[in-house]
Amino acid sequence: MTEPGTAVGAVAERATAGFRQWYGAEPAGRWAAPGRANLIGEHTDYNDGYVLPFALPLRTVVAAAAQDGERWTVWSELADSPVEFGAAEADQAGRVSGWAAYVAGVVWALRAAGHRVPGARLAIASDVPVGSGLSSSAAVEAATLAALVDLGGLDLAADRRPRLAQRAENDYVGAPTGIMDQSAVIRCRAGHALFLDCRTESVEHIPFDLDAAGLAVLVIDSRAPHRHADGEYAARRKSCERAAELLGVRALRDVSPADLDAALTRLDDEEMRRRVRHVVTEDQRVLDTVALLRAGRIRDIGPLLTASHASMRDDFEITVPEIDTAVEAALATGAYGARMTGGGFGGCVLALVEASSADAVARAVVEAYAERGFAAPGTVTVAPTAGAARLD
Ligand code: ADP
Ligand code: MG
Repeated sequence: MTEPGTAVGAVAERATAGFRQWYGAEPAGRWAAPGRANLIGEHTDYNDGYVLPFALPLRTVVAAAAQDGERWTVWSELADSPVEFGAAEADQAGRVSGWAAYVAGVVWALRAAGHRVPGARLAIASDVPVGSGLSSSAAVEAATLAALVDLGGLDLAADRRPRLAQRAENDYVGAPTGIMDQSAVIRCRAGHALFLDCRTESVEHIPFDLDAAGLAVLVIDSRAPHRHADGEYAARRKSCERAAELLGVRALRDVSPADLDAALTRLDDEEMRRRVRHVVTEDQRVLDTVALLRAGRIRDIGPLLTASHASMRDDFEITVPEIDTAVEAALATGAYGARMTGGGFGGCVLALVEASSADAVARAVVEAYAERGFAAPGTVTVAPTAGAARLD
């Protein structure tokens, strides 16, 4: 029932086949970038706090070759036919819309940073589910960026790439996201999670070798319709920013767990108090998770994952019935811990399980969904992989 993360071979072949079909030529190379899941640290990014994502064995592959002139032609499996744009469209944020904007945005961000971007033809295939909170958008940006940098021989160090890809999404596409997604899909290492300080943007690779420990993360795509996700995200963000202002700190990251009770007494609004409590305790849970992983105690992070979920459900109020059902069913079937991952109001749940019990946990979740009349969830078992790279 659970699909192990698919080999990169099949998706790379689809990208190549698309390239041949639409452009009648062979690609010069193929570049892949993974989707990501955030192990813990939700809604902490825009509070200058900590996150701990890892790269998934689900990949987006771009097959590409340079073409003459400042023209970019891009096709994706998701689309009927290629989209073409030139420098004029690439230089004005928003001129290319729809899915191709994620590619045009990367061209735009590179050009805005002064790079001579080669004209190119690109074909995109992907195993990253779209819109499930596993960052299919950052995967497209990162694979495109890797392709254009290599094709043009551009000088762009790995640690500067996440910011550039983020700019493509924030300023060209117009989607407000933090730096986590692009950092994860570009900088993650196999067998590790990426500990990212969203204030300083410093990263550390934390051992998270599930395979070696006989463990797996079961990712459950809730398939819940995203209900008012954009408006709710904006409201949470505003509430956190207002709270920081009232507390006289630059961001909620600056409230320590020891100061939390005193800080809460200074806020009149009960809802705002709960929002603050989530962010402050969630930052601490990230730090506690990192400490346990450093000590090689992977199974022991389970209760932190589950506590994170309770905090998102009760204090931050961003879960939905499908998500809570998946978490409860996973825990009842022996998962060490389970939580929603991503911004909320849908998206995915991850559960830390013995690799040998992943199928049983997945079955239990599917049954719990059926009992409540929810549309069937998707399930996949994963272990941490590496970030964006050239395949050949
Ligand atoms: P996610 O959580 O998957 O990142 P987003 O809404 O941020 O969700 O991004 C999804 C969008 O990214 C899609 O609607 C599409 O425009 C673009 N995208 C993602 N994957 C692909 C792909 N393989 N080909 C073309 N566009 C893609
Ligand atoms: Mg996205």
